[in-house]
Amino acid sequence: MAAHTQHEATPNSMRAASQKRSAAPSKNVMGTYARLDVVFERGDGCWLHAEDGRRFLDFGSGIATNSVGHAHPHLVSALTAQAGKLWHTSNLYRIGPQEQLAERLCSLTFAHRVFFTNSGAEACEGLIKLARRFQFVSGHPERNRIITFEGAFHGRTLGTIAATGNPKYLEGFGPDLPGFDFVPFGDHDALTTAIGPETAAIMIEPVQGEGGLSVVPTQCLEGLRALCDAHGLLLLYDEVQSGVGRTGKLFAHQWAGTAAEPDAMAIAKGIGGGFPIGAFLATEEAAAGMAPGTHGSTYGGNPLGTACGNAVLDIVADEAFLEAVTQKALRFRQHLAELQDIFPDLIDGLRGKGLLTGIKLKVPNADVGRACFEQELLTVAAGDNVLRLIPPLTITDEEISDGVNRLRAALTEVRKAETSAA
Ligand code: PLP
Repeated sequence: MAAHTQHEATPNSMRAASQKRSAAPSKNVMGTYARLDVVFERGDGCWLHAEDGRRFLDFGSGIATNSVGHAHPHLVSALTAQAGKLWHTSNLYRIGPQEQLAERLCSLTFAHRVFFTNSGAEACEGLIKLARRFQFVSGHPERNRIITFEGAFHGRTLGTIAATGNPKYLEGFGPDLPGFDFVPFGDHDALTTAIGPETAAIMIEPVQGEGGLSVVPTQCLEGLRALCDAHGLLLLYDEVQSGVGRTGKLFAHQWAGTAAEPDAMAIAKGIGGGFPIGAFLATEEAAAGMAPGTHGSTYGGNPLGTACGNAVLDIVADEAFLEAVTQKALRFRQHLAELQDIFPDLIDGLRGKGLLTGIKLKVPNADVGRACFEQELLTVAAGDNVLRLIPPLTITDEEISDGVNRLRAALTEVRKAETSAA
C-alpha cells in the first residue's frame, strides 16, 4: 500500500482545528491568565515570530525557561531523535536518559539522588515531602514545619501556595495547608526566633524570582547552612528560576562555593529548555526516607523530558558557556545602569544576578512592560514593581544592545505619557 503523505493522512476536522486563530481569544481556555493579544507561531534563538508578522525580541524566555533560546538545533535534534524512538514507559521500568541525567546532575552538584517531576511546583512539593519524611524516619515526626520567606514563590499547588504564603494566591482556596512559618526576607532575628521544636527545614530561593529579584547574599546562605546544621534542619533551595546557568553558575548557590550547599534543591524551567521537566535533588542522607512507594509520578523523568534535560546540560554545563553568561550579564548591567542615569524619574534601581535581571521601577511595571511590548520587546513583570529582563542565555551582545535600544524607546514613551498626565 502506498504511503500517505502527511497531508493526505490528516482528516479535515484536524486540519480545521490546526488553522490560524481567530481575531478574538478563545473563551474555551480557562481565564486564569490576563494574556497579551499575540499568538506566536515560530521561534528562533532570542526571537519570536507572531502570526500577524510581528517579530519580538524575547527578554522573557517563557518565564526563564527557554534557557538556550527557541528551536536550538541541539535540542531539536535531541528531542526529535528521542521522539522517533520512545516517548513513555512509566517509572515501572528503568529509563536510560533519566539515569544519565540524574548521574550528570549529581556529578555537577552536592546531590546524590534525583527525583524527576513535570514542573517546578511539583519539584517544590517534593522538597516539602522529602523534608517531612527525613525528620519522620530520623525519629522526629513532630518536626514537620517549614520556614519560608516573605516574597517567595514556590508554585501553585495547594502545598506550594501554602509555602508561598501570599494571600493573593491563597484567597478562596482554603483551608490552607498547615505547616509553614513565614519570616521577612533578610531578617536574621525573625528567622532564629521562628525555629522551634517542630521545625523540619528552611526553604529559600537563592534569588527570589517572582518576588522581585532580591538576591540572598553569599554570607547569608552560609549562615543558613550553619543554622540548619546547628538545629538539625534541612536546608532546601528552590532554584526553579535561578538555576541552570541563569546567574552565571550552573546553580545560583554555587557562587558561595561548597559552604552553602543545601540538603535538597528543586529545579525546573531552564533544565528542559521549554520541555516540561523538573526535579528535586538531595543528598543521600536527606533522601533516606524516600523509599519505594513513598513518592511517584507517571510522567516524571520520562524519555522525552530527560532527553531534553541532557541536551540542555550539553550546552549549559560548560565553564566557558557559564563564563560567557557572566560577561554578557555584566555588559547588560552596564547598559541598564546607563538607562538608570537617563531615566532617574522612572528607574529606582537594578536587581538580580547574572541574566536574572530586574529593574525596580518608580512607575507601574505594567506600564513599562506594555511599552516594551509595543517596541516588540518581551519582558515579564515581577513582584515589588520590578520588570524582569531574562533573555535566553545564548543571547548575543548585538541582541543585548538591540533590547536595550527598545527598552530606551519604551521608557521614553512612558516618560512622555507621565509628563502629559502630570
Ligand atoms: N519556584 C520558583 C522559584 C518559581 O519561579 C516557579 C515558577 O515561576 C515555581 C517554583 C513553580 O514552577 P512551575 O510554574 O513550573 O510549577
